[in-house]
Formats: sequence, C-alpha cells, structure tokens
Amino acid sequence: MRIDLHTHSRCSDGTDSPAELVQAGARAGLDVMAITDHDTIAGWAEAARAAACCGITLVRGMEISARYEGHSVHILAYLFDPENPALCQHIKQIRASRWDRAQQIVQRLHADFPITWDDVVAQADPEVTIGRPHIADALVKIGVVGERGQAFDELLHPSSRYYVRQYAPEAIEVIDVVKKAGGKTVWAHPKAVKRGTLVPDSAFAVMAAAGLFGVEVDHRDNPQEKRADLAAIVASCGLRAFGSSDYHGMGKPNRLGEHTTSQDVFEALTEGAYMEV
Ligand code: AMP
Ligand code: FE
Ligand code: FE
Ligand code: ZN
Repeated sequence: MRIDLHTHSRCSDGTDSPAELVQAGARAGLDVMAITDHDTIAGWAEAARAAACCGITLVRGMEISARYEGHSVHILAYLFDPENPALCQHIKQIRASRWDRAQQIVQRLHADFPITWDDVVAQADPEVTIGRPHIADALVKIGVVGERGQAFDELLHPSSRYYVRQYAPEAIEVIDVVKKAGGKTVWAHPKAVKRGTLVPDSAFAVMAAAGLFGVEVDHRDNPQEKRADLAAIVASCGLRAFGSSDYHGMGKPNRLGEHTTSQDVFEALTEGAYMEV
C-alpha cells in the first residue's frame, strides 16, 4: 500500500483543484491519500467525490497553523468532527487574521516594489486560505522574482524586513482541541530549519503528553542527517512516525508519494477516529 497523508490543493497554497489533486494521487499510484490544506476543509467534499471515482481512499485532514514557545509549527489534524465548535472557532480566528497579516506584508513590500493587494488577490480563489505563497505568486507574476521559492528565500523569509508574523494558537491547545473533536494530530516537518527557527526537542514529550499522535519523520524539509535521531525521539515518546510528500502541485518541487507512511501507522491513525475513511 502506498500512503501519502500530506497534500495541498488550491483551497490553500497548492495549484491543483481538490479533484485534480486526487486524480494526480491515483496517477502517482497512491492507494491512500489525505487532503490537508492549511487551516481549511473547503476541499473535502470535492476531493471525496473524486476519490470515489478514482477508487483511492481519502483521509480528510487539515494542516493547522500553530505556535510553540513563539516558534511557528504546523499541526496536521485528521478525521476530526468538522463541526466541532471549539475547533471551528480556532480556525475562524486563524483565517481572519491571515488576511490582515498578508495585507501588512504587501504594504511593506509596496514601499520598494510595484506590488498591490489586487495583484495578490488575483493569485487566489475567493475562499482560499491566503498566505505568503499567494504573495510570492504575485511577485513572480509582476516580475520581481523568477519563482515562488526565490520569493521565500529573499523577500518573504521570517528574517526579511517585509515579513510579518501570523497569529496562531498554541500547539498544545490545537492538539487538545483536535483530540476533543475526535481527531488525531501529527506534528509536520519538525526539523524544517529553512522555514525559520527550530523548536527544542523537549517539545516532543510535552506535545505527546498533550495527546499528539505522531510526527512527520520522512519529509524533505527534515534534513536527512537528522532523521535517525528524530525517529529515536519520536519512538521514545510513544509517538508514531509518518512519511509524507507535502505536495503543493506546481507550487513546490515535492512529488506525490516521495515519502510514505506504513500501513500499520495508517491503521492506527484511523482507529477510533470520529470520521471514517
Ligand atoms: P504562511 O502560512 O503564509 O506563513 O506561508 C507558509 C507556507 O508557504 C508554507 O505552508 C509552505 O507551504 C509555503 N512555503 C514555505 N517555504 C516555501 C518555499 N521555499 N517555496 C514555496 N513555498 C514555500
Ligand atoms: Fe503550504
Ligand atoms: Fe506545513
Ligand atoms: Zn503542508
């Protein structure tokens, strides 16, 4: 079984529609895939219809923006009740603040580059989870940079003077809220140093105690030489090790199925969850 539990559609910063995403998963030979857009479940229904057509098993998920001791962290949430009021409230607040924050970044960029808010909106569907990727795409479109990655390295990096931090709830709280909504959580790419500052290793035990289910070990943003130590810490905390692509369509070089999760771990993930697959 080929299982890839971390992918994005155009509902956040991927470039495929949810149906195209699922069809691409089937073409890539996946048996099971998750849709995990940033801070939204808007793609679930379309992805589920496409999955039924393609004969691929769909896991409903979402990648939640969170914070741990001031560091930005991403918590993947799976198979939770999408109508849980506490969870909906968290997501609503994150999504609303994303618009203000993106506008602030554009204002800062506008001082030095001919970018306007309209340029950014033109890169995003109306209900999308807006983020730096859409600002990056606007910078590419108006010719300030050559591609999305360059925008992140040069202008949108947390160390850049144009960067503005995003509001995000505490990871511990997100883990707890998702658990109470009947779902399971996985800490995404914990060693992704290129994205910003790293969370201390003491966080694994703290998050495990809060109810974290697993950690992405095999992910291209976790440097290869750190993965053995990472796997050891994860196991010592009683957490499950996941492997995923974090596919974003044309938005990133990540290819579907480039890392996968074992069938055992997948089955443990689905066991007792609010949503069935
Ligand atoms: P934001 O949530 O608005 O801060 O934007 C972060 C998102 O940008 C991440 O979830 C990634 O999907 C994407 N991202 C981060 N670094 C890069 C990069 N170098 N190239 C393309 N996309 C990136
Ligand atoms: Fe993303
Ligand atoms: Fe992420
Ligand atoms: Zn992701």
